[in-house]
Amino acid sequence: MAGKPLPFTKEKIEEIIKEFPTPFYIYDEKGIRENAKRLIKAFSWVPGFKEHFAVKATPNPSILKILKEEGFGTDCSSLPELILSERVGITGEDIMFTSNDTPAEEYKKARDLGAIINLDDISHIPFLEKHAGIPELICFRYNPGPLRKGNAIIGNPEEAKYGFTREQLFKGYEIMKNKGVKRFGLHTMIASNELNPDYFVETANMLFDLVVDISDKVGIRFEFINMGGGIGIPYKPEQKPVDLNRISEGVKKGYEEKIVKNRLHPLRILMENGRMITGPFGYLVSKVIHKKDIYKQYVGLDACMANLMRPAIYGAYHHITVLGKEHLPKDHKYDVVGSLCENNDKFAIDRMLPKIDIGDIVVIHDAGAHGYAMGFNYNGKLRCAELLLKEDGDVKMIRRAETIDDYFSTLIFD
Ligand SMILES: *Cc1c(COP(=O)(O)O)cnc(C)c1O
Repeated sequence: MAGKPLPFTKEKIEEIIKEFPTPFYIYDEKGIRENAKRLIKAFSWVPGFKEHFAVKATPNPSILKILKEEGFGTDCSSLPELILSERVGITGEDIMFTSNDTPAEEYKKARDLGAIINLDDISHIPFLEKHAGIPELICFRYNPGPLRKGNAIIGNPEEAKYGFTREQLFKGYEIMKNKGVKRFGLHTMIASNELNPDYFVETANMLFDLVVDISDKVGIRFEFINMGGGIGIPYKPEQKPVDLNRISEGVKKGYEEKIVKNRLHPLRILMENGRMITGPFGYLVSKVIHKKDIYKQYVGLDACMANLMRPAIYGAYHHITVLGKEHLPKDHKYDVVGSLCENNDKFAIDRMLPKIDIGDIVVIHDAGAHGYAMGFNYNGKLRCAELLLKEDGDVKMIRRAETIDDYFSTLIFD
């Protein structure tokens, strides 16, 4: 099996460890910027294309600032995410508020910020009106139910809690039209970590067809569609990145055949990817602190699933590089584990790796999205630091590690 490239050398990481002890996350600014530019370039034909980065993937202000500089907005779904976006200067319609089961105060904050409000359910129309008022621009999230198949992480649309049914969309837009709303958007998000470019073309076509149908039957004019996120990344070395140009070309064809032909252009196209933006450019760096030889061979890291829980919850593959041993034969079979008292605290099971020694530095790849962000404190585990490998090679801490004081700060002893 081929390796995966790294933006740093073993020597560089050893130097970093002197200042910042393991475990830590490190993000590759150059990789993130180049990738952001690729996405924008692929969709440069779209009038008003915008990527609203899904904050939940990597909720760090330094990362959001980089993405803002590249022209991205944000996709938020909670009050802290809205405030994070505001604090880095992303406000107004550069924020897409795609929430569900939404508390009233979050709608209020989203309205105060002038965010695009994307309603998850028809019953949220009176809820929004009561608590925050009806905005001039409204978007609805569509759930195609049995009309589309989803995938492993997000599940089939029919089983998913999100969005309006097709019938509800028509009703909802009618209601909003009667309330005086003039600006409309249509959203869906039905796949996660999907590597097939055609899936996204189908999604765009599904939304284009709906725009045609709803515009005609309800008599409203759409300003945008939002195709959601969900573009996958090649977690395994033999997988290939999704061909963004192929998605773009397919979407363009549908745009011309459905939108332009029906004189419904210009129609903006928005996306809210998280994973494909930062996923491949974040690494969890950890040290081997124990080896254990019982019925299986174990390698124990100083990181655990509190730092990265994707392998434990989805059985997700994350490639592992043992620094300095890239060229040695992978002739040892290990379970690479953390210290949680949970037997699913394993970064890899039966992974073929070079012979590992205590003190080796292990890099867990593709942890830049839904990695740190999913961290937790179970078992009294503390979340680690996040570092940024800047374009000039300098390293900056962009979030400090949690301390025991942080952990105790919410406890009440008397
Ligand atoms: C999680 C999420 C995203 C981002 O998903 P990725 O798989 O990281 O691209 C976008 N939109 C919504 C509504 C989400 O819940």
